[in-house]
Amino acid sequence: MTTYAAPLREMLFTMKEIGGLDAVCAQPGFEETTPDLVEAILEEAAKFAGGVLDPINASGDKQGVRWKDGVVTTADGFGLAYASFCETGWNAMPARIELGGQGLPTLVSTAVLEMWKSSNMAFSLCQMLTLGAVEAIAHHGSDALQKRFVPNMVAGKWTGTMNLTEPQAGSDLSAVRSRAVPEGDHYRVNGTKIFITWGEHDMAENIVHLVLARLPDAPEGVKGISLFVCPKFLVNDDGSLGTRNDLVCASIEHKLGIHASPTAVMSFGDKGGAIGYLVGEPNKGLSYMFTMMNHARLNVGLEGVGISERAYQHARAFALDRVQGRTATPGSKTIIGHPDVRRMLLDMKSRIEAMRSLAYFTAGQMDRAASHPDARLRLRSQALVELLTPVVKGWCTESALGITSDGIQIHGGMGYVEETGAAQYLRDARITTIYEGTTGIQANDLIGRKLVREGGTTMKALIGMMEADAQRFVDGHAAALRVIGASLATGLQALTAAVDWLLAHNAQQPALAAAGAVPFLKLSGTVVGGWLMARGAEAAAVQLAAGSAEADFLQAKLHTARHYMAHVMVEAAAFSEIVTHGAETTLALADHQF
Ligand SMILES: Cc1cc2nc3c(=O)[nH]c(=O)nc-3n(C[C@H](O)[C@H](O)[C@H](O)COP(=O)(O)OP(=O)(O)OC[C@H]3O[C@@H](n4cnc5c(N)ncnc54)[C@H](O)[C@@H]3O)c2cc1C
Repeated sequence: MTTYAAPLREMLFTMKEIGGLDAVCAQPGFEETTPDLVEAILEEAAKFAGGVLDPINASGDKQGVRWKDGVVTTADGFGLAYASFCETGWNAMPARIELGGQGLPTLVSTAVLEMWKSSNMAFSLCQMLTLGAVEAIAHHGSDALQKRFVPNMVAGKWTGTMNLTEPQAGSDLSAVRSRAVPEGDHYRVNGTKIFITWGEHDMAENIVHLVLARLPDAPEGVKGISLFVCPKFLVNDDGSLGTRNDLVCASIEHKLGIHASPTAVMSFGDKGGAIGYLVGEPNKGLSYMFTMMNHARLNVGLEGVGISERAYQHARAFALDRVQGRTATPGSKTIIGHPDVRRMLLDMKSRIEAMRSLAYFTAGQMDRAASHPDARLRLRSQALVELLTPVVKGWCTESALGITSDGIQIHGGMGYVEETGAAQYLRDARITTIYEGTTGIQANDLIGRKLVREGGTTMKALIGMMEADAQRFVDGHAAALRVIGASLATGLQALTAAVDWLLAHNAQQPALAAAGAVPFLKLSGTVVGGWLMARGAEAAAVQLAAGSAEADFLQAKLHTARHYMAHVMVEAAAFSEIVTHGAETTLALADHQF
């Protein structure tokens, strides 16, 4: 079993050259985030990820969580690791200063979160949900609610959950049936929620559930859903824990991956009604939940990056060690010398770099959107974040399935048996395309809300920016960049054709457009990720020309970008063809012909 080592040089390069770290740190509020501080944070996080979280990843997967009479016991070592995670301030780190966090740029916390996801995805979910719940309460809850719940949640003393899903309400939350009836200064909540991540466990004193439910007079559909805080233990006026609320974990799921993360069936109100406190105004719950879900979507996209990185490191170590057959590459004695193994490793590496670039670029845009002094730039960045959020979520997670699967392939038969650990990464990755909105839902969002609704304005502006870069590379002196620029230009033609087709056809033939939605999402990720790879290659070429001492790393960056263009960017044309010509067959069969 290998030990996770955070790819610090690669992360820092991507933060600087793609995420715009220096510019972000110069923004008001981030003056104290110096380059030295960022490096120190990343190094400390890397130590925690490799030294504390990684060692309990495989054992947590093997042991899983146990349920007995409503009580959930986490895997050995998780409680201690969580206590240490909170004591050392990592839980609070990404939160805003006014909430008790460190107020770092999202770009910096994104790199740190990637390490938690790589080293122990099951563990990382607890913090992700807690801080998501904090954001929802902090943005929309009353002062009293914030005071009562937020500080302990940020500190990690109490954890948070997101209770949306019900058996009949998954992707379509308008079907939520849980009920909330007013009673004095609170409500009584009744209903059953399924698939609730970290819904019950033994790592924290209290669990703060955010629950979607309907008021008695609520309108049908999404406009009649409200949001409630239902703590496991009620909280007294002095902040101490009171009696147990009327909610219980009825069971936990047995599932393909993330075994160490409890996935709970939560039953609210078996004894008359769980006490819940309304967040914000009635019937606005779903929009409040989106505060949480947009963050969570980016973080789940990051799971795709993190778990792929872990699978890559594992496969690379195996390929450098396993001897089998005479290799075709001079100097290589192990299977890394077989061209097909090299191809798989470089596919993994180049896709991961593109995915990380996309995630960090979006994180950097989030920082600009939040606090850049120029209002026009803030708006432009916000539009980019909104356009790219479903792409980060959908494309990085879909890509992770292929990458973690290749990780197994490189191990041969040893990848298929559990002993080597390669299989866990694919099993863990498999959920990422499903929760926080399936890829189909992300793709609908990308086409409907993000592309067509605004007539393609932001996408076209982004394409314009990418075309200008491609032209600069093609016109430049560096041969490697000219090749990269030409490939990027071809990808952009494919993207433009699909965008134009969708804008022309979506209104009249929405089913045709929806049939190509996921291919369009993959096309967008492939091209935008490739553009950012090209920008990285340009930065590497500049640093090489300036005589950087990191020649090995920079040359590898250039080659990896070229590999991406030759092996991944070429897929853009196929995706575009599916969007523009593939819908008819998709829709041709009647249900009974399947
Ligand atoms: C391990 C795990 C953890 C989870 N954690 C949480 C949690 O913490 N809190 C929570 O509330 N929920 C959680 N979920 C639930 C998760 O968010 C849902 O499973 C997910 O939203 C999909 O809903 P569903 O399972 O009902 O599938 P369905 O909505 O029934 O979808 C089935 C298929 O139909 C497709 N589909 C459905 N509608 C459309 C559409 N309009 N357009 C195109 N395709 C469509 C989907 O893409 C999918 O392929 C978790 C689930 C799992 C398995």
